[in-house]
Amino acid sequence: AQTNLLTSEKMASLGALVAGVAHELNTPIGNSLLTASALSDMVRDFERRLAADGGLKRSVLEAHLADARKACDIMGSSLMRAADLITSFKQVAVDQASGQRRRFRLDEVVHDTLATYAAQLRRNGCAVHVDVPAGLEFDSYPGSLSQVLSNLIGNALLHGFDGRDGGAITVVARHEEVDTVTLTFADNGVGMTASTLHKVFDPFFTTKLGQGGSGLGMNIVYNIVTGMLRGTIRVESEPGRGTTVTLVLPMRAPEGAPQEPALQL
Ligand code: ADP
Repeated sequence: AQTNLLTSEKMASLGALVAGVAHELNTPIGNSLLTASALSDMVRDFERRLAADGGLKRSVLEAHLADARKACDIMGSSLMRAADLITSFKQVAVDQASGQRRRFRLDEVVHDTLATYAAQLRRNGCAVHVDVPAGLEFDSYPGSLSQVLSNLIGNALLHGFDGRDGGAITVVARHEEVDTVTLTFADNGVGMTASTLHKVFDPFFTTKLGQGGSGLGMNIVYNIVTGMLRGTIRVESEPGRGTTVTLVLPMRAPEGAPQEPALQL
């Protein structure tokens, strides 16, 4: 079987970054707006029926309530996703502007980031295996690392599993060298063709144009890993077998902000 391997150097402009943030926020906010309008139609329909027939049947009432509850759930999780996106982008901006490292435990950042996707992972029937030794201490940028993991989880769900159930995500950390940790993030989804893999870090490259893709996720990941976190990234993927992203991360990022901005502006 063929295994594709790639590392690359591609930078996004400030305009591209802003477009990407706007695009990523657009999906959950668009979902919420559509759902709010459906909810308001439901209420209007309900009022019309009530006016026409004061004695509505219990079963009709229950059906309306079930629809309304579903709409509220969709709005709630969409808005939560938007709030998470804003928080994590804000955190990356703070990391980058201050250059202030913080001490954190790798296992906590991995678990906290996965926890923000718990509902979506459950809804997609996605199993999660985590093998990250407790107590690996980093002095680096937890917000930036969390943003990287969020993008990888989002990609596994959107591209890897593409709405199919029964997928699995595996996150493994190994501390084999004194000052670095190798973190692998794997999905057993559809994988990428060689030509997709070749362009995976290119800004605006997406195979899901108009379906939730902005083509900036992996570009941002690349820039954060090599800039802010001073690590390396490698992507291996095989059609039909899945995708593995390997990050080699220094446990102590050098003092001060990176000489190169993490996101090339
Ligand atoms: P976007 O997610 O907005 O499409 P990305 O830069 O994150 O942009 O990814 C670029 C492309 O790489 C995706 O459109 C997809 O084709 C491919 N890709 C990324 N992650 C995965 C994955 N886990 N499984 C399969 N394909 C992926």
